[in-house]
Formats: sequence, structure tokens, C-alpha cells
Amino acid sequence: MRFAKSEELFEQSSRRIPGGVNSPVRAYRAVHRHPVFIDRAAGAYIYDVDGNAYVDYVCSWGPCILGHAHPAVVAAVQEACERGLTYGAPTAAELALAELIYECMPSMEVSRLVSSGTEAVMSAIRVARGYTGRDKIVKFRGCYHGHSDGLLVRAGSGALTQSVPDSKGVPADYTKHTLIAEYNHPETVKELFENNPGEIAAVVVEPVAANMGVVLPEPGFLEFLRDITKTCGALLIFDEVITGFRLGAGGAQELFGVKPDLTTLGKIIGGGMPVGAYGGRKEIMDIVAPVGPVYQAGTLSGNPVATAAGIATIRILRDEPEIYGQLAAYSAEIADCVRENLGASVCVNQIGSLLCVFFTGERVTDYESATASDTDAYANYFNYMLEHGIYLAPSQYEAMFVSSAHTKEELAKTCAAIKSFSKR
Ligand SMILES: *Cc1c(COP(=O)(O)O)cnc(C)c1O
Repeated sequence: MRFAKSEELFEQSSRRIPGGVNSPVRAYRAVHRHPVFIDRAAGAYIYDVDGNAYVDYVCSWGPCILGHAHPAVVAAVQEACERGLTYGAPTAAELALAELIYECMPSMEVSRLVSSGTEAVMSAIRVARGYTGRDKIVKFRGCYHGHSDGLLVRAGSGALTQSVPDSKGVPADYTKHTLIAEYNHPETVKELFENNPGEIAAVVVEPVAANMGVVLPEPGFLEFLRDITKTCGALLIFDEVITGFRLGAGGAQELFGVKPDLTTLGKIIGGGMPVGAYGGRKEIMDIVAPVGPVYQAGTLSGNPVATAAGIATIRILRDEPEIYGQLAAYSAEIADCVRENLGASVCVNQIGSLLCVFFTGERVTDYESATASDTDAYANYFNYMLEHGIYLAPSQYEAMFVSSAHTKEELAKTCAAIKSFSKR
């Protein structure tokens, strides 16, 4: 494979855009090479500027669950464009999307549209604080909730309950109300509630953690979070930006049968356009302006073109639930192929169409075990797969996303590449 045009564009972009990319996850630093620049995408495939074709398992980091440029979604966007790109005034389409969200996720009685997952989580936290009159929140090490100041905290090892910002430019004062617990370790949450009585507004969690690779909740973990928040007068926020419409139309909350107070959505809900949403019980959401005193706004919120893409995507997922069975079956096939060929050197976590190949011989159940992975081994795997036409996330700690456009043919190509990697 040749990457000459990508290299040239990367060099030029690096002069005008930080690191040549508009989001750091797109840089290939963790896999020791420069990014490929994309020209176009269709169905299960993505094509770079040098004309190389890849089976795409990034799917724009999750949104493209129907594959790229699904005809119904593209038609909905084109139709919306012709009626104007934005009005800054309410539309029937926003109501239609709110109704669809409620239909799929009945816990979201009232929801507000925003333009990204970051905004959705930032706003849900503000609502939880406004509603409870408390300042502190609990998040889990290794869970990602967007780049807002108060959530850019993971805390270094040994500083479990201290809250050190992950990023320069975030004053420690902004993160001092963010308490850190360990995913799948209920006792760490219990301890925070005991040490901060009456002060915790909310626990925010990815119900399936998908930003430290993919880590499934242990049986009872989500139920525990539901119980302790209820008992202590805090809200439970499920950040379903990845899992929403991915693990089923009802998201992780339907799959695990645990009902959060507030939910945040993003990625798939925009069908490839910038959309996020947050919502929950009416009684809580009544605190949001203009009904209540918690302010939150957006010039392009509920943008008609983005909303059209979201509606078209969610309608398909709602009307064709068999898609989820196929996605899960294909993803399990990929997981099996990896296990068969790479054996004891990897741990494959898979749920529905989310999967992750960890380069570690141990079971991955939490942050500690996830970060024990051999990231250089992942980099070798990534580079081999890229050179063989399989486009994976350029980091050990990102999920692999399967779309409904992936067929047996792409699965066979993927498995053949995995097999030849194991024999190289
Ligand atoms: C991607 C992601 C976000 C942030 O969404 P953006 O649209 O990138 O701002 C928040 N939470 C989770 C769980 C995510 O995966």
C-alpha cells in the first residue's frame, strides 16, 4: 500500500491544525505512524486519498451503525437541506426526535437536543446539581464523558479520591467536585458516599465502559449504582453516548433493566451529523430553562439537517430490530476468530456490536486490568491490519464498531487478515 498523498496532507495540515487533526483521537501517535486521510466512505468501506480501501471498524467512532452514507439517511439530509439549513426556531422534526427517543428509552420522558456528547453530559451534570442542590459528582476512572472541564479527570493511581485534572488549562478548582471511583468496584463508590454525606449530586457512568477498550459491567454493578444513588438522594446518570441505539434501540438501560434518572446520548442519535441529547424524568427536567432556573442553550441545537439524519437512522433501528441480532452475531464471529488465532495473548471483550481486542493474557474487568495491555503489541496488530485493508481504531483503548453494512464477505476478509497476522 502507498500512503504518499496522506503523508503530504499530514505534513501540510500539521502546519495549520494542531497535530494535523481536529480531534486528538484521529492522530496515530499511539500506533507510531501518521494518519491516513479519508476521501470518502460507503457502506462498510472507507477509502483514503491514495485510493486504498478498508473495511471500516471505526465507523466514525460509533455513529455509522447503518454503515456509511445509508441511502435513507442521505435522502433525509438532502431533503432537509433544501428547506433551509437552520432557523433558530422550533420545528416539528425536533418533536418527532424527542418522541422517538421517549419511545425507545421510556426513562427519557423529557429531553433536550444539543450538538455533541460533550454538551449532553456537561448539561446533564448541571441539571443534577441544580435539581439536588449539591455540587459533587462521582465518575469512574477510565470512563470518558467528553472534554468539559469538570469531567476531564481520571486521577492518577494512588490518588483514588483526589481529583487531578487530566489536561493542562483546567484549574484544579474546577475538578475538586469530581470524585473518582473504580469501575466494577462498588466498595469505592460506597466509600465516597460515606465520606461525602449529603454532598453528591450524581453518579455518572458509561453503563458499558467503552473508552478504556470495552469493559462490561459485572453482574449487579449497575443495580448497585441504582440502589446507592436512590438511598443517598443522588441522581444516576447513564452516559449512553456510545451504548444508546448501539446495544439495542433501548440502549444499555433496556438491556440490563436498570433505569437511570438522566441519560445522555450522542453519536448514533445524529446518524453521522452532530447531535447530542440529555433527558430524564419530567420532574427533574423541569429545572431546565425556560421552565426552570438551570440555563442551557445552543444556537444550532435541534438543527433541522442533523435532526433529519437522526430521525432517519433511529426509525430504521426501531423498525428493524433484527439488525441488532445480526450485529451481535457478526461481532461474536469476529471475536471468535481473534480468540482462535491469537489465543492466550489476547482478551476479547464483546457485547452486541461493541468489541475490543486487549493484548493481555488476563481477563479485563476494570481500569487496572485494561491498562495492563501491551500497547506496542496492539500497535503492531493495528499496522498489520491497516496494511491489509482493515481499518481499526488507532488505539488499544477504543472500541471496534461493527455496522449493519458489514456482510459475510467483509467478515471473511477481516478473519483472513487476523489469521495471516497470527502466522506472520
Ligand atoms: C464520545 C463520547 C462522549 C463525547 O461526545 P462528543 O460528541 O465527542 O463530544 C461522551 N461520552 C461518551 C461515553 C463518549 O463515548
